[in-house]
Amino acid sequence: MPEITAAVWNGGDSLQLERLRLADPGEGQVRVRMAAAGVCHSDLHIVKGEWARRYPQVLGHEGSGIVEECGPGVTSLEVGDHVVLSWTPYCGACPQCLRGRYVLCELAARTNNHLGDGLPRRWRGDEAVHAMGGLGTFGEQTVVPETGAIRIDRSLPLDIAALVGCAVTTGVCSVLNTAAVEPGSTVLVVGCGGVGLSAILGAVLVSAGQIIAVDLLDSKLELARRLGATHTINATGVSIPDEVRKLTDGRGVRYAFEAIGRGDTIEAAYQSLDAGGTMTIVGQVPDGVRISIDPYEMSDREKTLTGSNYGSAVPPLDFPRLLGWYAAGQLNLDPLIARRISLGDVNEAFAELATGRATRSVIVFDT
Ligand SMILES: [Zn+2]
Ligand SMILES: [Zn+2]
Repeated sequence: MPEITAAVWNGGDSLQLERLRLADPGEGQVRVRMAAAGVCHSDLHIVKGEWARRYPQVLGHEGSGIVEECGPGVTSLEVGDHVVLSWTPYCGACPQCLRGRYVLCELAARTNNHLGDGLPRRWRGDEAVHAMGGLGTFGEQTVVPETGAIRIDRSLPLDIAALVGCAVTTGVCSVLNTAAVEPGSTVLVVGCGGVGLSAILGAVLVSAGQIIAVDLLDSKLELARRLGATHTINATGVSIPDEVRKLTDGRGVRYAFEAIGRGDTIEAAYQSLDAGGTMTIVGQVPDGVRISIDPYEMSDREKTLTGSNYGSAVPPLDFPRLLGWYAAGQLNLDPLIARRISLGDVNEAFAELATGRATRSVIVFDT
């Protein structure tokens, strides 16, 4: 059993660096040495108490690394493979997997993303330590099901690859897979964090027409423009639907994406739709949030309200193709990383994230 240093959440408002024992990989599992891990708003939801979760828990669900050891029966990976971790391992045999909805795998949902025996893989003395999304990327190493580690080309930078484990797939694939935006469509993206900016990149990738970005900070709106937004709205003190209509000849947009996870912005994004439009909730919503919409508009104006988990991705298909587009210069992921930090700086990264200013902080491990 290897020992690792990991950032552990013990129920408070910060993480502690602790030494833990990591189980050897079991049947169908691999041990991965982490190279990079992104600090995501979903981690912050847990630290701020906005999501009830079990503790102690190693946080972090976005990351990349190198396979160090394969358990018995592993067929798809070898030692030395570079991988992006996926919090939706899949069984490949349940009704959801069989219809291609890997992120909804029934076995993964039942075993808390561990598959197999569903047992915890980390220990502090005799106490089991949980792992966010079954991954716990804020640790030097992790053990995951082989379908939770997706092989990528070894020439790719592992810090950029880490982002594909959450923000990039969630944002880009919500546009490509969940909403299936057609070329030329008008697109609204509310919230310009890592996920929202990735949705903008997705809209650029599918040759959307107008791409309208909304945020409260001009610095983030400037970055949105750099990545391909054609119009921006600073939502401070204005009505988002009114401003969107001014930019769209009074119509509203064909596709809207909410990438924050707030009730008021979800309602505003929905109200910004043209007739026949689709609004997709991509942001992760704190426990207890409720929204109010007029259902008559859904029937009379044929508006659709839907949600997207992990961009409705098929990780073994989508992770390599996203990184292929990056390598070909078609997906401009480099500006998404604001800072590269060490594991010990994770609490500082949370404080920065809470201000709303930063895009991604990425923890880089010594490998
Ligand atoms: Zn995330
Ligand atoms: Zn399944």
